[in-house]
Amino acid sequence: MDMLLPDLKLYNTLTRQKEVFTPLDAQNVRMYVCGPTVYDLAHIGNARPIIVFDVLFRLLRHLYGEKHVNYVRNITDVDDKINARAAEHGISIRELTDGTLKQFNEDVAALNCLVPTHQPRATDYIDEMKNMIERLVMSEHAYIADEHVLFSVNSMPNYGKLSNRSLDEMKAGARVDVEAYKRDPMDFVLWKPSTASSSKAVGNNKTEPGWPSPCKIKTPGRPGWHIECSAMSAALLGEEFDIHGGGLDLIFPHHENEIAQTCCTFGTSRMAQVWMHNGFLQMEGEKMSKSLGNFATIRDVLNDWPADVIRLTMLKTHYRQPIDWTVKALDESQKTIDVWQARSDDSVAVLSDHFLVALADDMNTPLAISALHKLDGGALKSCAQLIGLLRQSQAEWKHTRQSNTNVDENAIRKLIDDRLAARAAKNFSESDRIRDTLAEMGIRIKDNKDGTTHWEVM
Ligand code: AMP
Ligand code: ZN
Repeated sequence: MDMLLPDLKLYNTLTRQKEVFTPLDAQNVRMYVCGPTVYDLAHIGNARPIIVFDVLFRLLRHLYGEKHVNYVRNITDVDDKINARAAEHGISIRELTDGTLKQFNEDVAALNCLVPTHQPRATDYIDEMKNMIERLVMSEHAYIADEHVLFSVNSMPNYGKLSNRSLDEMKAGARVDVEAYKRDPMDFVLWKPSTASSSKAVGNNKTEPGWPSPCKIKTPGRPGWHIECSAMSAALLGEEFDIHGGGLDLIFPHHENEIAQTCCTFGTSRMAQVWMHNGFLQMEGEKMSKSLGNFATIRDVLNDWPADVIRLTMLKTHYRQPIDWTVKALDESQKTIDVWQARSDDSVAVLSDHFLVALADDMNTPLAISALHKLDGGALKSCAQLIGLLRQSQAEWKHTRQSNTNVDENAIRKLIDDRLAARAAKNFSESDRIRDTLAEMGIRIKDNKDGTTHWEVM
C-alpha cells in the first residue's frame, strides 16, 4: 500500500524561511521559471535551474496529479545580446533565435527534462506587454520620458521586499546608468525606442527589432527584459500563481521588477506565493568564464558524459547551495549509476518513504540520493525515475557507457606509436600486447595501407 503523500515544504526567498506549500488551487498548481535568452548555446550553469525545476515539476505532478500542474518556462527572444550576435553573424534575428532555441530544446531533452506545459516566446506576447505598460502609465506607476517608458520605483511602497533591501540601500550600492530622463536612478525601463527600425523588423538584421509603441509614442520600440516575464506569466498563469523560480542572480533586479510590474498593474499584493532560487555552479573551484578557458556548454558536457551522470551530479548538491562542477564528482556519479543499473529492475514496487519525505523537504536531493543507495530492485528504479534518473534499460546503459568511453587521445596515440615501433622492430608479441591493451581500453585499431594506424571507440 502506498504511504500517504508527505507535506511539501519549500524555502521561500520572499519570507526567508521554509514553509508548507499550499497551492492556490490544487487542481491547477502553477509554476513559472525564467528561461534562456536564446543567443548562444546554453552552458552547464544554465542547466542547473532547468534540472532543479524539472525535479520540482516531476514532484508536483506526483503529489497533485499530472493533469493538475501547469509549468511555464519562457524563451527570451528579444534582447540586445541577440541583436548584437545576429549582426555579428550576418543573419536575421529570427534565424538566430530559431536555431538557438532548437539547440536548447535538444540539449534539455537529452538531459531527460520533461517538456514544460507552455514555452512562450516573448515576441508572441508584445501586445500583452504593451497593455500592461499602458495600465501602469495610467495608474501613474510608470511615466514616459524621451520616448522611453519607465517604471517609477517610488510609486511602490514595497519595492525591494524580495531582495530585502530598501531603495536607499540599493541606490548606495547600485552601479546603474543614471540617464537624465529618469526621475529616480533606480527607475527601470519598460519600453525603449528602437533605432532605424521598421514596425515589423523581427527578422531584419540591419536594425533593432521594433514594434509600434504604446502610450502614443511615435517611434517604434521594444520591451525591456523584466516586462516580458510579467506579461507571459499573467497571460498563461494569471495575476497570482504559486511558484516562481530561477537562479540566485535573478532576485535583483529581475524578479524584484517583475513583482513591481505585476502587482502594480493588477493592484494585487503578490505575484507568486513562493519564490525559489537555485545557487550558482562553478567549475573546479573557479567561476566559469570564457576568458578563464573553463567554459563548458551543455553540449560539451553531454559529449563526455551520459545524461544520467550529469543529472545525478547536479542533484547530489542541494539546489540552494553553490555547486562545484568537477570531473571527480562526475566520475563518482558514473560509478553510482553503474551500481544502480546493476541493482535495479522493473519489478512493481512502492516508492520508499525515506526517499519521498527527503524530496518533499525543500527538495533535499542529497538526502533522497542517500536513500536510493539503500534501495534495490523495482523500488530503486521507480524512485530514481521520479527524479528523472535510470530512464535507460540495462542494455541501453551498457551501450551508452561503451560509446561514451572517455578517451585520452594522447595516451592512445602514444600506444599506437609504440606499437608501430614494435612492429618495425619485428617485435610482434609486443605489438600484439599493445593491441590488447587498447582493446581493454575500448579502442579498436585498423592498420592503413600507407603504414598509419586508424583508431576508434568500440
Ligand atoms: P541567463 O541566460 O544568464 O539569463 O541565465 C539563464 C538561467 O540560468 C537563469 O536562471 C540564471 O540564473 C541561470 N544561471 C546562469 N549561470 C548560472 C550558473 N553559473 N549557475 C547556476 N545557474 C546559472
Ligand atoms: Zn523572468
